[in-house]
Amino acid sequence: MEEKGLLIVHTGDGKGKTTAALGLAMRAWGDGLRVLILQFIKGGWTYGELSTITALKEINGKIDVRQCGLGFTKKGDRDEAEHRAAAKKALELAEREIESGKWDLIILDEINYAVKFSLISEEELLSLVEKRPAALHLVCTGRDALPSLIDRADLVTEMHLVKHPYQKGIKAQKGIEF
Ligand code: ATP
Ligand code: MG
Repeated sequence: MEEKGLLIVHTGDGKGKTTAALGLAMRAWGDGLRVLILQFIKGGWTYGELSTITALKEINGKIDVRQCGLGFTKKGDRDEAEHRAAAKKALELAEREIESGKWDLIILDEINYAVKFSLISEEELLSLVEKRPAALHLVCTGRDALPSLIDRADLVTEMHLVKHPYQKGIKAQKGIEF
């Protein structure tokens, strides 16, 4: 069987992009793959998944999660220069890890938002994904994935919003939303 690293994109307006990436992380870890998750939006992640990853990491060290420290959801809360510096650091970290050969699966969680808010340019994103070693599986999550990223991807799933409890005013539920 040919081993080929896949470029995978989870996008769309429905819930499940990060959840599906975490499901993939669980399957890969169970198969003995080394998995790294990089969070591009600090605070987008919660204790549920962090506790799970910490527990799995203690078992064999083959999974890890890092916050890239962008710490934003939209522009305006901090000055532009600070955002740019954080984005540059995040890109460098992602690049280092992608080229390190230490991982079989890397998830760039919410990276599409960093691109959407123009903190990472289209060229920087494409150059990052092109740097991956042949056998590395790379997942990019977040709404509004760029057409050029979708073009290059091997596997693209669009989560489509049919219903979300939020629309009925139901508050976020522990274990489901966080
Ligand atoms: P999840 O992390 O639950 O898989 P996601 O990665 O698909 O969600 P994001 O765009 O990263 O979605 O949004 C993060 C947060 O917004 C999560 O708490 C998620 O439950 C919530 N969310 C996702 N989709 C919707 C939606 N269509 N309406 C309202 N809230 C949503
Ligand atoms: Mg998400």
